[in-house]
Amino acid sequence: MALLKLNQIKAVRFDTKPEIFQVYTERQLDKIDALMLLTEAQRFEMKVVAHVLPFRVNRYVIDNLIDWSNIPDDPIFRLVFPQKEMLSKDDFEQMAVVLRSTSDRSLILSKANEIRKKLNPHPAGQQTLNVPYEGDEPIGGVQHKYRETVLFFPSQGQVCHSFCSFCFRWAQFIGDKNLRFSCKEADKLRDYLARHKNVSDLLITGGDPMVMKTDHLAVYLESLIKPELDHIQTIRIGTKSLSFWPQRYVNDDDSDDLLELLKKIIKAGKHVAIMAHFNHWREMVTPVAREAIRRLRATGVVIRTQSPLLNHINNNPDVWADMWQEQIRQGLVPYYMFVERDTGARRYFEVPLVRAWEVYRQAVRQVSGLARTVRGPSMSTGPGKVEIQGVSKIQGEKVFVLRFIQGRNPDWVQRPFFAQFDPEATWFEHLKPAFGEKKFFYQDEYEAMCKKKIALRV
Ligand SMILES: *Cc1c(COP(=O)(O)O)cnc(C)c1O
Repeated sequence: MALLKLNQIKAVRFDTKPEIFQVYTERQLDKIDALMLLTEAQRFEMKVVAHVLPFRVNRYVIDNLIDWSNIPDDPIFRLVFPQKEMLSKDDFEQMAVVLRSTSDRSLILSKANEIRKKLNPHPAGQQTLNVPYEGDEPIGGVQHKYRETVLFFPSQGQVCHSFCSFCFRWAQFIGDKNLRFSCKEADKLRDYLARHKNVSDLLITGGDPMVMKTDHLAVYLESLIKPELDHIQTIRIGTKSLSFWPQRYVNDDDSDDLLELLKKIIKAGKHVAIMAHFNHWREMVTPVAREAIRRLRATGVVIRTQSPLLNHINNNPDVWADMWQEQIRQGLVPYYMFVERDTGARRYFEVPLVRAWEVYRQAVRQVSGLARTVRGPSMSTGPGKVEIQGVSKIQGEKVFVLRFIQGRNPDWVQRPFFAQFDPEATWFEHLKPAFGEKKFFYQDEYEAMCKKKIALRV
């Protein structure tokens, strides 16, 4: 089928035939017919990178989202397939040498792990600071960084229908179980939430919770409609499934059960928010994606959207404006534009912060107020979510104007603060306080929290 453009939907009828979910990982790269368009050398490059960074793609993505007449530039191709430039020259060469010289899996793995360690697998204190404790015991599968919102990583939801090459949670997918945040017990989660009455939101995340069968998801969701959890108003589910496997809501065996489950949770009084990841409007315009969105919305959930700004994929204000407009047309609520995090293949995807702000500004001014609910560009950093509000000149000094959208101390939120303008900075750690100050206003307090391993101040 030819790829669809924006606004082409009316010409295409939706076909309800169930499809088989067929997935390919680095071991099956040779089985993907479409890759025969590449040279042998290009396929080897992909293999090299796929031995370090997680790779997984499914047939729907290959056949419906990628324009194979436009590779390697196609945005969705860049989103799921490994590219040589995702590793440093040196790391790439070393991995290539190992792969050319041996088929011993333990040697290959040890080189891969050596490189992975250098790629900042756990940015922003996720493991050291965000995991809450019960006495001396960490509560597995839970992160609690901001007062109102607890993150939960159900153990069966720690994979995705395909992997994004930019994913900041990539380290969870490389098979090291110690590194996974997962939780076997819905009970522990429920106890934790019951004890924390100032939590209003639970964010179920992964991986992708929507890879779970409906009956597994039901165990977690139904445990939340008990009276002792009345303070949990909102259940958010973070997912890329509307892009990578919209059939989940349309014609999987348990699609209808899933929609019924969501209705039931809403009927019990909860707000259910689907936090959908879309990096490009292309992901939203296939007939099955539109049908999935339509069916999901009919249950009463609200679909909010988020994406990082990614070089080679959506580093273009028009792509964002078209995407947000398409989201509004289909009844979705644009929520966050993120800055690509300082981990994994960041070298390939990062753009300067000043560029991120320009893309945001040029995109947002093209859309009506209904799409301007989107905040950003936002950096998820150790102390909190920091938004770049803009570039300004104050008393002759060029500065970035910043604010916390979320902070480990809620009192930090919404106080404008200033960093020296730096045209090359791509991440928060590159920024220095403006006006000759030595520290940002929150810094002493944050350092004290790190020392004491306090996740948040409430
Ligand atoms: C972004 C984020 C949240 C949710 O923040 P909202 O501003 O409520 O969307 C919660 N926990 C962590 C660790 C986050 O990064």
